[in-house]
Amino acid sequence: MNIHEYQAKALLKEYGVPVLAGGVAYTPEEAEARAKELGGPVWVVKAQIHAGGRGKGGGVKVVKSTDAVKEAAQNLIGMTLVTHQTGPEGKEVKRVYIEDGCDIRRELYLALLVDRGTSRVAIMASTEGGMDIEEVAHATPEKIQTIYIDPVTGLMPFHARQVAFGLGLQGKQIGEAGKLLQQLYKAFVDLDASMLEINPLVVTATDTVIPLDAKMNFDDNALFRHKNVAALRDPDEEDPMELEAAKHELNYIKLDGNIGCMVNGAGLAMATMDIIKLYGEAPANFLDVGGGATKERVTEAFKIILSDPNVEAILVNIFGGIMRCDIIAEGIVSAAKEVSLDVPLVVRLAGTNVDLGKQILAESGLAITSAEDLADAAAKVAKAVREEQ
Ligand code: ADP
Ligand code: MG
Repeated sequence: MNIHEYQAKALLKEYGVPVLAGGVAYTPEEAEARAKELGGPVWVVKAQIHAGGRGKGGGVKVVKSTDAVKEAAQNLIGMTLVTHQTGPEGKEVKRVYIEDGCDIRRELYLALLVDRGTSRVAIMASTEGGMDIEEVAHATPEKIQTIYIDPVTGLMPFHARQVAFGLGLQGKQIGEAGKLLQQLYKAFVDLDASMLEINPLVVTATDTVIPLDAKMNFDDNALFRHKNVAALRDPDEEDPMELEAAKHELNYIKLDGNIGCMVNGAGLAMATMDIIKLYGEAPANFLDVGGGATKERVTEAFKIILSDPNVEAILVNIFGGIMRCDIIAEGIVSAAKEVSLDVPLVVRLAGTNVDLGKQILAESGLAITSAEDLADAAAKVAKAVREEQ
């Protein structure tokens, strides 16, 4: 799960991280009030969306009066902000963060993330902050320093010094950066974060080291033990279909292909996606209905797939073990009756009660193409899509 910059800063503040004073606003009037509380003389109005690149996209305004804060908020709230991370459709800005302005001397990059290869927390640091780190990694990888933290020892003072020297920090900046790293590391581990990115980390004109931006991702599987973090979820930032699927305990991930998939078991779902690709088409989603799915859940799954306008055909691939084929068949039939099924449907059933399942589908009066095996199913669904065009 992702959270907004201002929320990440509030969480980090609890760990002692020196973030600038600021306040969130949903209307221009609230923005003006926040600005008056802060006092100025320089304010920054920042669009809050779950995507980076806001600065370049026009989502960060530096202003010098409370009237200008209000005006900037007026312009930002309701606008669709397009950045290299939002995709061309952009994201609507619904809240802004009003923050004290900062006199920046240097912009650096710092990130903590879970490195699966080493099973450790990795700290990445670079002198090339404020810009697109992917671009730095591509063009000048030597400018990114990565160190791995042994979970047994945790972050040691020498790690902090190594990062500080790598960033070219001097004098009291080194001690400050060390303290900051300890705070960030503790927050990262305590909160079960999967990523914490500070871009930029800045050295100010008064020689302090502070995070100017903060992006945090959390491990969804650990959210149950962080109710305060889970409460920060912003449904406006999430895919509505994924939210709907989560309500019904379905593992659904939207993708950008044209073939809707309904499969039981994550492994079979992956194999199904692969074979769709092999036959020249692309999956519109990953969907694992699970082992113990009920007829209602299958119906919901079917409705979610059909609500995606990109879906040109559906492939149902079920291996009936715990999950019986007749239950799946009943779910398909009842869903198809509720939602008008206007795309080709290919079904491959195997396993428990397969004959009964096939009989239910055949007697339903729906135009369903039955497939014998995975390859046959993929070939048939690919053919169906091409015939539609
Ligand atoms: P994004 O990464 O989405 O572009 P940032 O929070 O990194 O958003 O802001 C973009 C740029 O705006 C920063 O690199 C910095 O130069 C400037 N900026 C951000 N916050 C402030 C601030 N409080 N004071 C002065 N400049 C700021
Ligand atoms: Mg940034």
